[in-house]
Amino acid sequence: MFMGTLWSRIKEGLSSVWYENEPECCLCGENPGPICLNCENVYFHPELGRCYSCGKLISLELDYCQDCLRNKGPESLTRVWAWGHYSGDWKKFIWEVKFKAQPRRLIQIRRPLSQWVMGHLPPVDGIVPVPMHPDRLAERGFNQAEVIASLLKWEFGLPLIKGLERKKLTVPQIQLTRWDRMQNLENVFAVKEPQSFWGLSLWLVDDVITTGSTMEACARTLLENGARHVYGLSLAAGAEKGLVPYRK
Ligand SMILES: [Zn+2]
Ligand SMILES: [Zn+2]
Repeated sequence: MFMGTLWSRIKEGLSSVWYENEPECCLCGENPGPICLNCENVYFHPELGRCYSCGKLISLELDYCQDCLRNKGPESLTRVWAWGHYSGDWKKFIWEVKFKAQPRRLIQIRRPLSQWVMGHLPPVDGIVPVPMHPDRLAERGFNQAEVIASLLKWEFGLPLIKGLERKKLTVPQIQLTRWDRMQNLENVFAVKEPQSFWGLSLWLVDDVITTGSTMEACARTLLENGARHVYGLSLAAGAEKGLVPYRK
């Protein structure tokens, strides 16, 4: 009841502050932004669905991608959403945020991201970023997942719930086979204080979802520590083969 009222207030608040001075598109730099209509169609595909299990862009009539139907995808997450297709200017944007140390650029996309989140994800009690190992954090200076989660915190007025930690430095999942990925993530995540997550529904936020195994490992840890539902949310994911032309 309370969440319902709060949710409609948040929706009203958001729509009233939506249109301000529009900068140029942060992806193509050509048309009015923050993300122009052309880039929205090319990278964000409102006409497509998202695999419930791994977030991959799929045909709107389907619930799961071929991979998740075959191998069984993540199981602990109630559902997963990815905003855009990880290719072209969108991939470049995310890459530059991370590896050229430009976390501030994420501020440019906070409004269209929030609008999309509002239209797709269920209301929750709080937001949890996928954590980074302290060594990697020291190296990069920021955790992009935490920056995205903070933007959503401000836009929605939801608490950012800290305390999920990454205990081990792992090799990137993309380099591993499916079995090795599961081994690689064994006991990697832990929570500081279990009571922080007890009974809560959460958005688990990351920048890119590739196999879904990192989010799955985080979600499992959160559920083991009493979380009620964990919904995955990422800026980008791949697409089912042949569905979307991949852009360099
Ligand atoms: Zn554009
Ligand atoms: Zn899938």
